[in-house]
Amino acid sequence: MKSLIFIAPPAAGKGTQAKMVSEAYNLVHISTGDLLREEVKNGNTELQEIMESGKLVSDEIVLDLLTKKISSLENGYILDGFPRNVSQAISFDKMLTLMNQKIDYVIYLNLDKEIAKKRIVGRVSCPNCGNVYNTMIEGMEPIEENLCNNCHVSLVKRKDDNEEIFEVRYNTYLEETEPLIKYYQDKNILYEIDSSLEKQEVFKRIKEIIND
Ligand code: AMP
Repeated sequence: MKSLIFIAPPAAGKGTQAKMVSEAYNLVHISTGDLLREEVKNGNTELQEIMESGKLVSDEIVLDLLTKKISSLENGYILDGFPRNVSQAISFDKMLTLMNQKIDYVIYLNLDKEIAKKRIVGRVSCPNCGNVYNTMIEGMEPIEENLCNNCHVSLVKRKDDNEEIFEVRYNTYLEETEPLIKYYQDKNILYEIDSSLEKQEVFKRIKEIIND
């Protein structure tokens, strides 16, 4: 049973890679963004406002959702979007110790800010299967305009995927999330990958780390 964490600036391909790895290794893919969006769908407007502003939701809310999810798992898992700051990482480590578990690998997908910005403006996804496409990056467009290659339903754009919100999200990442790199480096479980590489190449490098 393996457990992984992904750390990355917005649009570094974190969700895409987490999905590919979870399928290849039969790991449960846990995206705290998705868990929170589910809460929003169920009518939590307060959460919706925070998320659309590009800021972080309180640690307490996220940890509560995550604890519920992880305590019912029997498989290894991938955390996509958690922890987002050092205080979440510390609380999570305490929780893992209580459950006699640990994190095996922290994958840091490094990406230049300008590339990240370009990726975010073109990002669209399938509301049915979750596949992610990009209308501005060669090789990542859907085959038919605005339709999912698998499901043939119309692709949707996340409300927070625009340039202004990107700046807020990127600054939040620098201030809150980037310090996690040192936190996990000190624990000797951090692995850095250049995320400007082609998606299959990034995936290959992740597999090399996990298979080691
Ligand atoms: P994501 O889909 O991971 O980009 O997350 C979308 C939004 O959900 C973020 O901009 C935050 O507002 C919120 N969010 C997701 N994960 C966390 C977390 N671990 N801590 C706090 N807020 C989060």
